[in-house]
Amino acid sequence: MTTLKADIEQSQNETHSKDIEMMRLAMEQAKLAALDGEVPVGAVLVLDGEIIGTGYNQNIIRLDPSAHAEMLAIRAGAEKIGNYRLLNSTLYVTLEPCSMCAGLLVHSRISRLVIGAMDQKTGACGSLMNIISDPRLNHQVEIQTGVLGEECSMMLSDFFALRRAQKKALKARVSD
Ligand code: ZN
Repeated sequence: MTTLKADIEQSQNETHSKDIEMMRLAMEQAKLAALDGEVPVGAVLVLDGEIIGTGYNQNIIRLDPSAHAEMLAIRAGAEKIGNYRLLNSTLYVTLEPCSMCAGLLVHSRISRLVIGAMDQKTGACGSLMNIISDPRLNHQVEIQTGVLGEECSMMLSDFFALRRAQKKALKARVSD
């Protein structure tokens, strides 16, 4: 019994450290978005321990309202494995997915979703609504929240604070 318990604990710890490792990579993706002036959200899609897709917000650059981090990571993953269904895969994303991306997770048959920060304004995986756990739909996604949550949330608030400061500086310059 003790061995079994220890085994379970060890496997839980391994899952946790893998989640942190992958969330760090999702944060690296988010930083790429910030460099382009896009809202810093990043995603990494993993199947059998291997990264099959990555993505970061590119709405402005691509002139595409659907170019969210999750959307791009999932498209890349489906192309990589040659299948429109992504069974047994895990998506790591720095911010709780919106209703569009939550719907996409269900359509993709992704097994597990790991979230950094929650999004009280538009999150559709538990905050505003909960699309991925809705029993009326034909697929539910297992969810883990709060992995590097504070760091992910800080990255967003730093970005918006910087953007507000830049706007203020620009306004001051124009009125001079
Ligand atoms: Zn989205």
